[in-house]
Amino acid sequence: MHEFAITKSMLDLVLGEAERVGAKEIRKIDLVIGKMSGVVDDCVQFYFDFLSKGTIAERAFLSFKMVPPTARCRNCDKLFELEEFNWTCPHCGANSLEIVTGNELFVESIEVE
Ligand SMILES: [Zn+2]
Repeated sequence: MHEFAITKSMLDLVLGEAERVGAKEIRKIDLVIGKMSGVVDDCVQFYFDFLSKGTIAERAFLSFKMVPPTARCRNCDKLFELEEFNWTCPHCGANSLEIVTGNELFVESIEVE
């Protein structure tokens, strides 16, 4: 359910930005979502359709860029893609990992008219 709050703050952000530049319509919103953030793109789309009604973002196209999770091993310092539920370094077997990507959640850019 946290997608509702996320979508609302995302929409507020882009509407504020569009207003700042004097845009008449928001055409496209590029979102970056890390796969570990737990945010489901379909849910965001659903709430967006609902929340954007009557705003200048009503017809905006949502573009989702899903970022795969990567981690760095604190033991051997190697960077690798993290497999789900596997918190072990594939190089040295240590399980002290630092998440590098995968928790992202932000608006990368918007297209306005
Ligand atoms: Zn390692």
